[in-house]
Amino acid sequence: MEFSKIRKEIIRFGRKLVERRLTVGTGGNLSFFERDRDIVLVTPSGIDYFDMDPGDIVMTSPEGNIINSYRNPTTELDLHLALYSLRPDVNAVIHSHSIFATTLASLGWEIPAFSYLVALIGDRVPLAPYDTFGSKGLAEKVSSAIGAYKGILMENHGQISVGKDLTSAFSVAETIEFLSELYWRSRCVGMPTLLEEEEIKRVMEKFSNYGQPGKTRE
Ligand code: 13P
Ligand code: ZN
Repeated sequence: MEFSKIRKEIIRFGRKLVERRLTVGTGGNLSFFERDRDIVLVTPSGIDYFDMDPGDIVMTSPEGNIINSYRNPTTELDLHLALYSLRPDVNAVIHSHSIFATTLASLGWEIPAFSYLVALIGDRVPLAPYDTFGSKGLAEKVSSAIGAYKGILMENHGQISVGKDLTSAFSVAETIEFLSELYWRSRCVGMPTLLEEEEIKRVMEKFSNYGQPGKTRE
């Protein structure tokens, strides 16, 4: 994809984060790894998504060497780069402070297999232990906790989702928020029953070819 198109896509999804109530203000950050050219594009630090121009998006090598950019990259650059180096299946990373996911993360909870939709993320939604925002420690803790999951909660902070592209990572962010609200509501009135390990694995398998894989309009 052209870099100019990626820059615009990152901003479009950043604005969607706010519109879908997945973050407020300048909270959260997004990136895309153009693996063919070994270039990562990330949001700048502390700029409102609606004030962001394509030229504000920061370009960097996978090692974090900034290329031709006049903005400071997101403070979570190390975290984004760590995930790209860890997960060859990942080309997009989205971090947000969505309200219900952050509520559970602040309680120190993870989301167990209480709904079959948890299988869109994995056999549960794990929790990475707290560390200071923008720290190498946080990048290490999230990297250690994420395994093969599509997303995780970040203790006392928010959530992070990954995908093959921005559309997939965004959809995971929305699913995590939906599941977080559902789990929170369930826990307000009782203890939801959990799916057996075997069942959640079966659903994960079913989701691997859910929808219209390989089918295109004539
Ligand atoms: P940035 O504005 O530096 O991306 O920081 C926002 C954030 O969510 C830090 O965790
Ligand atoms: Zn954050």
